[in-house]
Amino acid sequence: MGEVGMDSNLVIIIGAGICGLATALALHKKGIKSLVFERSENLRNTTGTAIGILRNGWRALDQLGVADVLRRTGFPILRERMVLLDGMKQQVMPMKGESRSLKRKDLLDALYAALPPATVKFGCELESIKLDPKTTRPILRFIDGSSIIAKAVIGCDGAKSIVAEFLNLKPTKMFPLRSVRGLSNYPNGHSFEYELYRITKDNNLVGRVPIDNNLVYWFCPQPNVPGGDERIWEDPEAIRQSTLELLGDFPEEIKEMIEIADANSLSFTHLRYRAPWDLLRGTFCNGRVTVAGDAMHVMGPFLGQGGSAGLEDAVVLARNMAEKGLDNVEEAFNLYVKVRRMRVVRLSLQTYLTGMVMGTSSLVKRLICIVFLFLLFHNPSVHVDYDCGRL
Ligand SMILES: Cc1cc2nc3c(=O)[nH]c(=O)nc-3n(C[C@H](O)[C@H](O)[C@H](O)COP(=O)(O)OP(=O)(O)OC[C@H]3O[C@@H](n4cnc5c(N)ncnc54)[C@H](O)[C@@H]3O)c2cc1C
Repeated sequence: MGEVGMDSNLVIIIGAGICGLATALALHKKGIKSLVFERSENLRNTTGTAIGILRNGWRALDQLGVADVLRRTGFPILRERMVLLDGMKQQVMPMKGESRSLKRKDLLDALYAALPPATVKFGCELESIKLDPKTTRPILRFIDGSSIIAKAVIGCDGAKSIVAEFLNLKPTKMFPLRSVRGLSNYPNGHSFEYELYRITKDNNLVGRVPIDNNLVYWFCPQPNVPGGDERIWEDPEAIRQSTLELLGDFPEEIKEMIEIADANSLSFTHLRYRAPWDLLRGTFCNGRVTVAGDAMHVMGPFLGQGGSAGLEDAVVLARNMAEKGLDNVEEAFNLYVKVRRMRVVRLSLQTYLTGMVMGTSSLVKRLICIVFLFLLFHNPSVHVDYDCGRL
């Protein structure tokens, strides 16, 4: 890492998650050099969970030039099927546009592999940011005591972002839900359709999407029970057992899928969001500092859009920075925020209302959310129609 007070003429990105890597790649494609600082010692791709990428996300991946390599790793998902075990009803809808599930590892690896060598500096955790009073350039301080003066800073440091704190954004909030996710491998092939299959009974829901002929991604949102020792959720077997207990009456094929899930892939996440009304008013850039991805608009997974929205951010941000030039980076950041604000407000509002319908215990709140969903989002898949444009 740089010595104390190193002056860098580079764009600095904080965080090498999906959005940080995509932003570095988008800038690279526009001829702008950047350096990514990541606190982990390597790409966080050791846990094997997956991510659904819908049509708008594929548009962004096409612009980044990594879509074709990724299309080889995840099979197309053709339809959505919702099965209500209580009344033995089911609803089937064709998938709107291209949709695939990918192993997160494949997505991160593809973005990383397309970057010039040494773009990402691992083991560098940002501690704080301040502005140089004379030049207004951002000074980044890392926990090892080193610091760097940047040309511009893009915070892609996730839901608990230090860069968002610097911008005085309101803290993110928690849904009354958590999510368990896993990957199950069928060495002799699974027999499932290539569809997003959701099955529900007594307010419990399991979703299942095949990635390829052998690998199946599944998720199970559960009510958040406050209190208790949170450390037990670091144990994959505790996650597996609690999920199986919840799904006692579910079909055998669902329980078997959870029983055979790879222990390394089992994860348990409290679901956070940035409130849509905070997105409407928040100051997402200050001079040469801005945020993107979950740092800007963390949302629940109910529409499968958080990651794709981060990919869109990357394309729009790099396009504006190339158009305006690095000498006018403040103008580029203002334009980026202007373009992205209403997109992420709408996406987050639809996600929030969907999450509250699933998670709230109040019948009145649930009804209000259903009414708003119907009035504002009568085309429920409008979010996949968005096109972030050319890089
Ligand atoms: C249960 C669940 C299911 C989901 N399913 C989908 C889906 O199907 N489709 C979809 O599109 N989205 C989905 N999402 C959302 C998606 O996972 C996120 O939107 C996406 O991963 C965010 O990427 P990011 O790069 O913005 O942030 P992150 O992935 O959080 O990456 C932030 C990076 O910054 C690093 N970092 C943090 N702080 C610092 C620091 N101080 N210094 C240096 N580095 C730092 C972190 O180590 C990390 O590598 C889901 C989310 C959840 C919780």
